[in-house]
Amino acid sequence: MTLFCKQCDGRRLPKYIQAEKNTLWLCEKCKNFTDINDIIIREQTDEERETVKRKDKEFEESTNFPKANLNRRKGVN
Ligand SMILES: [Zn+2]
Repeated sequence: MTLFCKQCDGRRLPKYIQAEKNTLWLCEKCKNFTDINDIIIREQTDEERETVKRKDKEFEESTNFPKANLNRRKGVN
């Protein structure tokens, strides 16, 4: 098992896939998942790509000043 993709020599990252209860290795360039034996399982789905993007965005927002919390208080009393 190598950390680098066989196809593009890109770095692979381990991703825990909740639905499959398994950790797969994702090549961020090829967007495919391989298992621990270097066998390509499938490509990353659009949905998963969106989830990653959304999480990045949420993280960015959470590190900024929390404006949302101030707005939410308006509804109380
Ligand atoms: Zn690759």
